[in-house]
Amino acid sequence: MEFNLDNLVRETIKDLAPYSTARHEFSGEAKVMLDANENAAGSPVTLDINERHEQLNRYPDPIQLKLKERISNIKRIPVDHIFTGNGSDEAIDLLIRIFCEPGFDNIITLPPTYGMYSVAAAINNIKVKEVALDADFQLNIQGIADAIDDYTKIIFICSPNNPSGNSIIRQDIEIILNNFDGIVVVDEAYINYARQKTLSLQLMDYPNLVVLQTLSKAWGLAALRLGMAFAGKEIIRLMNNVKYPYNINIATQELALKALQNVEQVNGWIRDTIAQRELLADALKQMDITRKVYPSDANFLLVQMTGANEIFGYLQQKGIIVRNRSNVPGCEDCLRITIGTEEENHILIEALKAYCEK
Ligand SMILES: *Cc1c(COP(=O)(O)O)cnc(C)c1O
Repeated sequence: MEFNLDNLVRETIKDLAPYSTARHEFSGEAKVMLDANENAAGSPVTLDINERHEQLNRYPDPIQLKLKERISNIKRIPVDHIFTGNGSDEAIDLLIRIFCEPGFDNIITLPPTYGMYSVAAAINNIKVKEVALDADFQLNIQGIADAIDDYTKIIFICSPNNPSGNSIIRQDIEIILNNFDGIVVVDEAYINYARQKTLSLQLMDYPNLVVLQTLSKAWGLAALRLGMAFAGKEIIRLMNNVKYPYNINIATQELALKALQNVEQVNGWIRDTIAQRELLADALKQMDITRKVYPSDANFLLVQMTGANEIFGYLQQKGIIVRNRSNVPGCEDCLRITIGTEEENHILIEALKAYCEK
């Protein structure tokens, strides 16, 4: 296969003259900043962080350089291979808009999987070809090969996969990377919980690879909205050209920067969550209502239960909310249960035991 980025990018995007902000054109330390029509007097609230009271009247760094430098350090990926966005969702939407011509092109998704790929495609009038994962939630390589046509621009692979929880076999992902000359997006939202290593250190081997990660899961920052994409420089440049100029606000930039110092704390949580996951899986397996607990490389369990709908309703009545996936093809009678604190998991287990004894 011959990967040629130029042939993949939409003409309108290729020829785009990106908006150049005042902050793009000047980034040094200035004494007098009269270039961006900001309110020079200050802001009515400040961002209070590390004993500083930061004014909010100035536009933030449009390319989030400090934040990317810290991410670069942690992830061992050069800054110019990093995009940061308003959640992974921004990266998903941008990739579709950069590569897929509305009304012509298509993407391939591998259900059951994360819903945003097809929603972002639908919003952009991009056809979605679905190639179901097999009974073990692994890739149907032949099915994917058969589905690819001249208009297929992106294949979305979620690993570990949501909602099944398993990692996709790495060699299978590499077969797709080696044989598809479009973009392969590997969504690693749950990689911190996985036994399998990230693909983000393989960017040099695969020019068509885009890896997505997020601060929303293991990093405990879902409310902050910070997603990351790792890819070749040219793909990152295109994403920066198409994004809103100030896509990451200063509060998110500063708070994420601070949060990223706490690697040890996050690693501790990851170990705890994995331990809790195994305890919860064992407890569920002992219940008569449980038909199958799928192996998980994530911070949730997909559990097939007799009467999943009824159990879902019962738990809801008790104030315990899990995700009902029983209407999702491939997940019949399944609930997706996020691993909570030890106490929350205990409450769940006791409620399910009481249900069994009814
Ligand atoms: C939760 C999740 C994300 C995270 O999305 P954000 O927009 O970064 O919060 C991405 N992909 C998958 C598969 C997820 O489950």
